[in-house]
Amino acid sequence: MASIYDDFSRYFDEAAQFSDMDRGLLEQVKTCNNMYHMSFPVENEAGEIEVIEAYRAQHSHHRLPTKGGIRYSTMVDADEVKGLAALMTFKCAIVDVPFGGAKGGVCIDPYQRSPEFVERVTRRLVIELDHHSFIGPSIDVPAPDYGTGEREMAWIADTYRTLNPHDIDHFGCVTGKPLTLHGIPGRREATGLGVFHGIINCLSDPEAGHNLSPGLDGKRVIVQGLGNVGYHAARELSDHGARIVGIAEHDAGLYDANGLDMEAIAQHRWEHGGIAAFPAGQVFANSQETLEQPCDILVPAALEHQLTVDNADRIQAEVIAEAANAPTTPDADRILRDRGITLIPDLYLNAGGVTVSYFEWLKNLSHVSFDRMLVGAADMQSRRMLDTMQAITGNALPLHERAMLERGPTEIDIVNNSLAKTMGESYERISTLRRERGLPDLRTAAYLYSLELVAQSYVELGFFP
Ligand code: NAD
Repeated sequence: MASIYDDFSRYFDEAAQFSDMDRGLLEQVKTCNNMYHMSFPVENEAGEIEVIEAYRAQHSHHRLPTKGGIRYSTMVDADEVKGLAALMTFKCAIVDVPFGGAKGGVCIDPYQRSPEFVERVTRRLVIELDHHSFIGPSIDVPAPDYGTGEREMAWIADTYRTLNPHDIDHFGCVTGKPLTLHGIPGRREATGLGVFHGIINCLSDPEAGHNLSPGLDGKRVIVQGLGNVGYHAARELSDHGARIVGIAEHDAGLYDANGLDMEAIAQHRWEHGGIAAFPAGQVFANSQETLEQPCDILVPAALEHQLTVDNADRIQAEVIAEAANAPTTPDADRILRDRGITLIPDLYLNAGGVTVSYFEWLKNLSHVSFDRMLVGAADMQSRRMLDTMQAITGNALPLHERAMLERGPTEIDIVNNSLAKTMGESYERISTLRRERGLPDLRTAAYLYSLELVAQSYVELGFFP
């Protein structure tokens, strides 16, 4: 099967046909700048030496630092990491985050290994990256991805800090850290929340090509993967009126046209490691079949290459919301497009994570939380306004209402509102470009918008005449 990098190349080439920029320049924009393949020894659970394979790809240095998650999976290889790093470059461009794209991968199955082993691997990985200048707040900043989370990010921050005690910005070397370790509220939910905003934006767009009404009320949703991205996306969608009718996990799928209890299934998944034994609806031992059931919105939020020529004909959704990276192969994309199904592309839809990672990095560099310097001024402004209104009208508000109106924004308010605004503005950019340049779909528009932006940066940096 073609790799994620092959998929990326095809999507890139299709979009590049609509650009009249210099071909050599576009070739530079497509190329992966750096790839570091590591093999390093780590003591395993049995006390033996195990050689670990790992990769870090930096796709584009037109902006620094480069940025992208680290995934832990036995499926990881050089092409996968290269393709995901390229997606990161274009994702950052779409949401106006000033980073180049990167991605890392470590070839282990974290779910089958002890926490102590995963910690040894993570700390050794940072030593390798640091010795080859592949990590640092101004160089390359990892984040969570498939198989990693706050725990791994904390180990990365701590190891980097130990190796670089004189770097005052050491906590900016990685994002997705726990709150107590200079993380930012809202990062954990950010990718899923961004997926929710992206879907809302697409449903409100009369030119997106689907027949669905704006808003989520009663919309039937199938989600694949109840991990970080899938769980938070499903929760937001369901909190805003959608009906989660299908959930596909690694061990099975569940479907009930009347709706599933998403929270109870997620709880079961965390407690038992799977959902096969959960007593609800129709159970599919082959979880892939869940994706083919009737729904309005299908949200693949687990792995790449889930929608292929083998199942594209049987998908019954009106909209496919690509929460995962590269869930649709280019051949399947063509089939789905020809069938009139609207795809919201990964490089826009799951960019909420890197957007809030950017906020976390900014917070780490400024060494202060966003609300700390704002909240006093906001309180004062509201107080003055309320005092003036009271003086004019002669009416005083009840104390609890006044207290609520006086309160300035908290850090989570700032983060979530900025994320919503970013997802809205970015959608507007790609849908406007699609309309103005007569592009076939949102994916082509997203690629074209970002590849021309990156190309322009290279020109401005003086790389090309
Ligand atoms: P995760 O490890 O938290 O969750 C993945 C989930 O998918 C798990 O619940 C797992 O059991 C499930 N799963 C595994 N194989 C499956 C299968 N065959 N069928 C159905 N479910 C299966 O990972 P995540 O961070 O949620 O990432 C999911 C996807 O989103 C990946 O493609 C990742 O690259 C992408 N992504 C993640 C982030 C982020 O902030 N975490 C940001 C952007 C993109």
